[in-house]
Amino acid sequence: MKSSEAERILASDREHVWHPYSSTHSEVPVFPVKSASGVHIRLVDGRELIDGMASWWCAIHGYNVPELNAAITGQLDDMAHVMFGGLTHQPAVLLCDKLVEITPEGLETVFLADSGSVSVEVAMKMAVQYWQARGLPGKQKFVSLRHGYHGDTLGAMSVCDPVTGMHTLFNEMLQQNYFVESPGCRFGDTCQDTDIEQLRSTLEQHHESIAALVLEPIVQGAGGMKFYSPDYLNKARELCSEHDVLLIADEIATGFGRSGKLFACEHAGISPDIMCIGKSLTGGYMTLAATLCTREISDTISLNPPRCFMHGPTFMANPLACRVALASIDLLLRSDWQSNIARIESQLLSGLQDCTSHPDVVDVRVLGAIGVVELHEPVNMKSIQVAFVDQGVWIRPFGKLVYLMPPYIIGDDELAQLTRSIHHVLKHSQHC
Ligand code: PMP
Repeated sequence: MKSSEAERILASDREHVWHPYSSTHSEVPVFPVKSASGVHIRLVDGRELIDGMASWWCAIHGYNVPELNAAITGQLDDMAHVMFGGLTHQPAVLLCDKLVEITPEGLETVFLADSGSVSVEVAMKMAVQYWQARGLPGKQKFVSLRHGYHGDTLGAMSVCDPVTGMHTLFNEMLQQNYFVESPGCRFGDTCQDTDIEQLRSTLEQHHESIAALVLEPIVQGAGGMKFYSPDYLNKARELCSEHDVLLIADEIATGFGRSGKLFACEHAGISPDIMCIGKSLTGGYMTLAATLCTREISDTISLNPPRCFMHGPTFMANPLACRVALASIDLLLRSDWQSNIARIESQLLSGLQDCTSHPDVVDVRVLGAIGVVELHEPVNMKSIQVAFVDQGVWIRPFGKLVYLMPPYIIGDDELAQLTRSIHHVLKHSQHC
């Protein structure tokens, strides 16, 4: 049943508002939200949904978290924002210190950015400027993995999977980069020479024009929700070092515990040259991302002409965002997050197990707090979205993938309701 307030919001929404990856004439419904707390999203019409998405990987502590609310309101008394050119402040300095401390060894310099996509642009520009400063201006291209996803701005798009990233639409605008097959070795498998062969030969042949390999370590997210072998990542690291190609690890989705390690690079025990983080950096409170690099990269760029890194967003290092990021990291690290992710992982494994027998299901896979049910055909978004809401859960599939990545605070009963509802919806209706 729809309330009149919900109807009013929806009428305006239909008139003027464009939603992510959508048509303004879409028949897929949107649901007005009144509030959210813990793992619950409350709709304006009074219904309450258990959140299975953590707002696209961000809200790791759930919603309306007292510690995070306090961090923002406390910071407001000092300042909401000041420019970062020529000024600095404690929230930014403390946050950068903390990020250097908790990320893989060797990453020493932090560039704060506004969103994940921008942090990827920054990483790509860093790589190109680094090689220019080293006297190798020919190294301006990138190599990336098929089924990768790195953001929606033009540079980031140019390293996303060309098919799911719809490169044909933007053909003239996008730099033509190199792509290699998505790793064939799944998480837990060893990586055979054949799995890495294409990357090896691409680097051998084209290293003189390649600035960096860009990849999502271990978990390819929005491009297919695939989990691959740490062995592949290890070998990719070695190949990059061998061929003077930088390794950019995009940990925007995987960072802060989601895959079972604080950063997914830790599954392979490697350090990238450049690393991007975002999403759950602020516990989903504010938009903030960061690009970290080695001292060698920041020094080489800074000590050679033009002696500056050419990037500087207006809202760089926003103090509210930095303060809430610090509070979110503190909250995470003070908790026994490893055991908690292990708990979620084992419950996802057992809870999604039944889906394997469904005729529309190709594969069920789980890693850390990520559970994926892959189908033969893309879902019918219009009907499946309504079906999930009717079940009292917020689950937003894409393409052939129905997946869960709940807030880490989710309880066993709530998680059971999420997995049950996937099974129920797939079993009882025609959404594929
Ligand atoms: N990289 C990865 C791995 C992502 O998952 C995303 C967002 N889904 C991005 C980059 C882009 O981040 P944002 O949406 O904050 O620009």
